Amino acid sequence: MNDKKLTIAIDGFSSCGKSTVAKELARKLGYVYVDTGAMYRAVTLYCMRNGLIADDGTVDEAALRRDIEKIGISFIYDPQTSKNTTLLNGEVVEDEIRRIEVSNKVSYVSRIDFVRAQMVKLQQDMGRQGGIVMDGRDIGTVVFPNADLKIFMTASPEVRAQRRFDELTAKGEKVTFDEILENVTQRDYIDQHREVSPLRQADDARVVDNSQMTRDEQFELILKMVDEAKEANA
Ligand code: C5P
Repeated sequence: MNDKKLTIAIDGFSSCGKSTVAKELARKLGYVYVDTGAMYRAVTLYCMRNGLIADDGTVDEAALRRDIEKIGISFIYDPQTSKNTTLLNGEVVEDEIRRIEVSNKVSYVSRIDFVRAQMVKLQQDMGRQGGIVMDGRDIGTVVFPNADLKIFMTASPEVRAQRRFDELTAKGEKVTFDEILENVTQRDYIDQHREVSPLRQADDARVVDNSQMTRDEQFELILKMVDEAKEANA
């Protein structure tokens, strides 16, 4: 098998396990993992902390445009565990950006054109060398349209909401299943219907619906896709 370092794009709906798979894959292949959702979440947290977003999701775009260049987003990446820690202007915000308050606002920020342009630029810079697994919504369509392997992951909204609910309650967050289901379906709707880079499956993406799959089954299927992509590149 050849050892060309691939660029792997994993897109799909919210809470369908993209980041878990992407992390596992990066660890297995010795690649870098980039969680692009964390970047949009960090910008959202910046807006919340600086009074740039109202409760109804209205963003003060003029102020955000002035600030966008000075919103520093970086990751501390541990290749041994593939653990990714998100920093906002040098401060660890990994836990904070996963909270429901941020999840409820992030789609209002990620639909803004200049926010996307800035994030896409940063993501393309991170992936220039190949050997990367990046997950998000527009990786196979916009960020790396020439990716060696594009995977589009999905699962039913109820299955996804249940997984996110289990994850958040395990962390001690007080949330209800209905609240999570509403967040998941609302985010999907906004992500699919925004004007700039809406969430859609790339024409050449391979679909993985994991509603009925175990994690192991899914991982095996994806490893097979990676082998095929490597062969196609040989
Ligand atoms: O992946 P995660 O659920 O953390 O993403 C949070 C939000 O960030 C998504 O609902 C979407 O609005 C936005 N996002 C995006 N483009 C990406 C990654 C995430 O618009 N590439």
